[in-house]
Order: sequence, then structure tokens, then C-alpha cells
Amino acid sequence: LTLIKENDPELYESMRLELERQTNNIELIASENFTSPTVMAAMGTHLTNKYAEGYPGKRYYGGCEYVDISEDLARDRMKKLFGAEHANVQPHSGSQANMGVYMSVLKPGDKILGMNLADGGHLTHGSPVNFSGILYDFVSYGVNEDGWIDYDALRAKAIEEKPKMIVAGASAYSRMIDFEKIRAICDEIDAYMMVDMAHIAGLVAAGYHPNPVPFADFVTTTTHKTLRGPRGGAILCKEAYAKAVDKAIFPGIQGGPLMHIIAAKAVCFKEAMSDDFKVYQKQVIDNAAALSEALIDRGFKIVSGGTDNHLMLIDLRSKNITGKDAEKLLDSVGITTNKNTVPNETASPFVTSGIRIGTPASTTRGFGKAEMIEIADIISFVIDNKDGDLTDAKKRVKALCDRFPLYQ
Ligand code: PLP
Repeated sequence: LTLIKENDPELYESMRLELERQTNNIELIASENFTSPTVMAAMGTHLTNKYAEGYPGKRYYGGCEYVDISEDLARDRMKKLFGAEHANVQPHSGSQANMGVYMSVLKPGDKILGMNLADGGHLTHGSPVNFSGILYDFVSYGVNEDGWIDYDALRAKAIEEKPKMIVAGASAYSRMIDFEKIRAICDEIDAYMMVDMAHIAGLVAAGYHPNPVPFADFVTTTTHKTLRGPRGGAILCKEAYAKAVDKAIFPGIQGGPLMHIIAAKAVCFKEAMSDDFKVYQKQVIDNAAALSEALIDRGFKIVSGGTDNHLMLIDLRSKNITGKDAEKLLDSVGITTNKNTVPNETASPFVTSGIRIGTPASTTRGFGKAEMIEIADIISFVIDNKDGDLTDAKKRVKALCDRFPLYQ
């Protein structure tokens, strides 16, 4: 930051404030994390200078021989990490990874079965305001009354609608997903199977969630959530689809790849193979379980009754507060969350009846079970005293953050 401070003080100020915010707040947004300094360093390098349209060995620009090494490292490490036949590490984001897969084997107007946004799916799984819902004929499945994926209903819907592809994976689902069951349904109706493992990729890499790669034709991910890499996307697929996927990403929907980000993805995949990463992911899951139990003990309703992964959804209807107001209230004491729809939602997506919280970022910081119980206690105090004096809650948040400094 020293150079930015010297040469662009106006920009520096906004970056300094953001660092202060990240340092002094408890980050509970389930899709966020703090990268390692090595990942961050790779992003800020001269690799950003290079145009490299195409793929290693087959570029449309000269001088690509060295960035080819970086991209090959990223691809090979990713394949090894997840046991995949082919990897494309060029998608600029998770959304573009998903678009790349749809475009690789489907035509606009084709039918896809994806998880409902309100039940935990992602915008790119068929929301009418997203390219997915605009270009493709999406139908949806969801969760049952208890908040668990209803596989029987999913199968019935698949048989009734005969989609060309079924998309598994979610943004706000706290239970393990049964990929084998979904594969069987795909086989029954002769549909492609895509798994968007953006949220759980780190857990999968460490062996704490079943790996979708053996079952799915295509697996997409972001690299910046539990995987703790740079902001970006990636696709894994069977060799049979490698050419179609690569063509869909470039020249289909993207131009030059971000070579500095691809270098950072290579770092991320190397880190994800380490024993430290396994220890970290185990702690992420243990922390989520501890937080969920402590919240239930304090009278909160957790959708599906708990969590198997890194996140949980709190249904706030019994607490008489909307997701929007809870997010704002918690923000005011230094706890960052996001409002989220809950199953059988009655409020609008701008208001919602729930909040989604997760443990990847706070675990990276060093928080353990004791800190999770303290966080549950603060959340409970704040929600139950929404019109009261929250000075003490703010102090408790600051004390936790001070005990676990960030980027020291
Ligand atoms: N897929 C899932 C399941 C996600 O949760 C997200 C992001 O939240 C995405 C895809 C999209 O990723 P990006 O924001 O990088 O486009």
C-alpha cells in the first residue's frame, strides 16, 4: 500500500478505510474469506501486463511462453486437487464459469433444472433477472418444509420436465448435497449434470464434503470463498467436454484471461493441498456447528436445524425482525452478515426474513469454538435489544478482533 499512498492518496484513503473495516469487524458473510499474503502478492504482479488469448501452447499473441507455465501450473494443480480430467482456470468469476458450461453443450431456450433462489440456489441457476433465466428455460426444485433438499420432488420434477441439464449446488444451503442421487436422476432422464460447488469447494478439497467430480459432467466453482484464493471462477469437466468448455469461455464469452489472477489461483490450489488447509477446513466446520448450536441455545431458529458445512441460515421470524433490519443492526456493532431469503419466504428479497452467516473468514483469522459462542451471545443480545444501548456489544466485538489481528 506504500506506493499507492505516495502516488494516489485519494484512492489510498478508501483502501485504508476498507482495511480498517476488515480488521475491526467480525466477518460472517459466508462467501467471503481473507486470502494469504502470497495469493494477494501474486495478484499484484506484472502478469497483469500480458495478453494471452487462447490456451497454453495455442495463443493468439506472442510472448506467452512464460505465462503458459503459470496457467499450466494452475490447471494441473486444480485437476490434481479435485481428481478431475480437465480444468479451465480462465473464468473471471463464478457467474462466467456457469455461463461457460451452459454455452458449451446447450442452446438458448434449452430447459435446465436448477435450485430455487429462494431455497438457496444462485442467481445464475435460473433467476429471471439473470442471463441464465433470460437465455434458458429454467425450471426449479427446492427444499422441503424442514429446509432439506427434497430429492423425491427433484426426481419427480426432472421426470415431468425432462430438462437437458440439472444444476446442483447452492449459495445458502447448510447440508451435504447427495451428488450420487442427483447423478442417478440425470441418468434416468439422460440429462447433463452440473455441480456449482462455489461455496463448498474448500471443504471438498480438504475431504470434508463429498467430491462432485466423479459424478458430474461439469463442476464449476469460484476460487474466493472457502477455497480462499483470488476472486475468480474455474470449471472442471470430463475430457469429452474439454474442447467445448474451453471454446465457450474463449472465444465464447471472454477475451484475454487475467494472468495475474490465474497465477494467484495456482497459489491457492497449492495452498489447498497442504495439511494446514485441511486443519483450517475442519475448524471452519467445527466453528459453524458450534455457532449454530449456540444460536439454537439462545432461541434462534436455524433452517434445517443446524449445519454440516461452513454456513447456516437464521430464520428470524420468531424474533420479530426482518433480515434487512438485522443486517443493519449487526453492522452497527461491527458484525457483518447478509440478509437472505428463507424457505417459504413471505417478505421481498430486499427485506427478507433471514440472515445467512458463515465461518470461513473468521476461522482464517484464528477464531475457534470459544469465540463462536461469544459471537452467538453478542448476536443474541443485539437482536433482543434492538432499541437498547449496544455500546457494550460493540466493545465485545472490538475486543475479539483485537485478540486476533488481521494481516499482521
Ligand atoms: N455460484 C454460487 C453457488 C455462488 O454462491 C456464487 C456467488 O455468490 C456464484 C456462483 C457467482 O460467483 P461470482 O460472484 O464470482 O460471479
